[in-house]
Amino acid sequence: TAIREPEASSEALGVLRRVFGYDAFRGAQEEIIEHVVAGGDALVLMPTGGGKSLCYQIPALVRPGVGVVVSPLIALMQDQVDALRALGVRAGFLNSTQDLDERRMVEAEFLAGELDVLYLAPERLRLESTMSLLDRGKVSVFAIDEAHCVAQWGHDFRPDYLALSALHERWPDVPRIALTATATDATRREIAARLRLGDARHFVASFDRPNIQYRIVQKNEPRRQLLELIRGEHAGDAGVVYCLSRKSVEDTAAFLVREGVEALPYHAGLDARVRAANQARFLREDGLVMVATIAFGMGIDKPDVRFVAHLDLPKSVEGYYQETGRAGRDGLPSTAWLAYGLQDVVQQRKMIDGSEGDEVHRRRLASHLEAMLALCETVECRRVRLLAYFGQHGEPCGNCDTCLTPPVTWDGTIAAQKFLSAVFRLARERRQKFGAGQIIDILLGKRTAKVIQFDHDQLTVFGIGTELSAVEWRGVVRQLLAEGLLAVEGEYGTLVLTDASGDVLGGRRQVLLRREPERKAARTKSASG
Ligand code: ADP
Ligand code: ZN
Repeated sequence: TAIREPEASSEALGVLRRVFGYDAFRGAQEEIIEHVVAGGDALVLMPTGGGKSLCYQIPALVRPGVGVVVSPLIALMQDQVDALRALGVRAGFLNSTQDLDERRMVEAEFLAGELDVLYLAPERLRLESTMSLLDRGKVSVFAIDEAHCVAQWGHDFRPDYLALSALHERWPDVPRIALTATATDATRREIAARLRLGDARHFVASFDRPNIQYRIVQKNEPRRQLLELIRGEHAGDAGVVYCLSRKSVEDTAAFLVREGVEALPYHAGLDARVRAANQARFLREDGLVMVATIAFGMGIDKPDVRFVAHLDLPKSVEGYYQETGRAGRDGLPSTAWLAYGLQDVVQQRKMIDGSEGDEVHRRRLASHLEAMLALCETVECRRVRLLAYFGQHGEPCGNCDTCLTPPVTWDGTIAAQKFLSAVFRLARERRQKFGAGQIIDILLGKRTAKVIQFDHDQLTVFGIGTELSAVEWRGVVRQLLAEGLLAVEGEYGTLVLTDASGDVLGGRRQVLLRREPERKAARTKSASG
């Protein structure tokens, strides 16, 4: 119910021009800033690069007192503070990297009203000493950056964030603005509930990143495929390559360097100094490729990243969106490229089954994986599917792989029935479960040692699937998994039927499959897709 004050607006605009040197607000920035300046709570969902920082920095400058920014990005606080100071903004931070003297100095500045913005690590706010410090000074606004970290439903939960619910009780008159670049409806609701943002206005920007071209390919020889992408389209460009494991990060970086691509590794197992040096080089120099685990990237503001490549399947669509979002923050054409194969699904399923935590947690992880798979196997526009995941509407974009080369679909009902009935027969007649490889060998009528060992050449389904190649069968399996018509479980990636499988076996459900693209990878030995 805040009344729109023209002075507030022009004051904010004045700060934008005078302090930050920009001419005009972008998107909903002005509306958000006015709302917060007037004392309202806000929940802001804006894609990476959308301009979230100004949404709290300007209210911090316009309202009397110090704007307190809670951020998990401790490693970046110094940079953020330096950048603000360079603009003449009085900024400081408090986190665990400081010694007592440094902390005392910042606290004194805060109490003396000599700060405009104070960055705080979330674990600081759990301390009563920090709370009472804030009591003794004057806080103008609380900004909660990367607010999805409070949501257990999301993919980046940080327990320290739960303590932030106390802000509202202790300082009911201080407006709060929570910001995130990643939020499905479920996550957004959870953020609002956990941060007690019941009365907050929600500002939801479009999540479309039109300059990013989304492409998802089948994993064959991933490093070769990556090299082709870099040499063919992104020679000399800055890029990020995400791998699941530290070892794969190291191996891939070494491979690229051998092939003449300037690449650096980044993962949590590296010495902190090496990590910081690699990050600094990536930010400063042109055309470096950072090969990293997902430990890399949150809060990294490098505008000219031309491609983000995933060599392993991300664990969730939210993670995928956030990681790919690091490409093209300058608005220029960029590529989001992902190579994935059946082995990724098996591996992630294994990790989920072996993960700590309760059944609810595992189900949550499984549903994240299923949504990611559905995005990979869709025959629709990737962008439409991605936006739909965030509850937003989009039109076919003409700038993703499925728009540019629409997949040919075929009626795969009979193939699906053959595969599912092989799984069914093994389970019922033999009380056995196997992975995709063995079942495909059975359908193709291959008398491998393992087929002979288990007498699988005696099954009625032996050799009934020779109309497809092994590669095509793997495609069938991936798509059945993506549709929830088949499930993979356990350490060995064994396949089991789902409740929905019966509809296919009983002829009540048609299965449309996408045709596997022709490729030299009919050398099935190396194919992991
Ligand atoms: P986010 O935190 O949402 O990822 P940032 O706040 O880092 O995005 O902003 C992304 C980039 O856009 C930054 O370089 C920032 O200076 C720039 N920017 C933000 N708002 C404006 C604006 N109104 N005009 C011009 N540039 C802006
Ligand atoms: Zn598209």
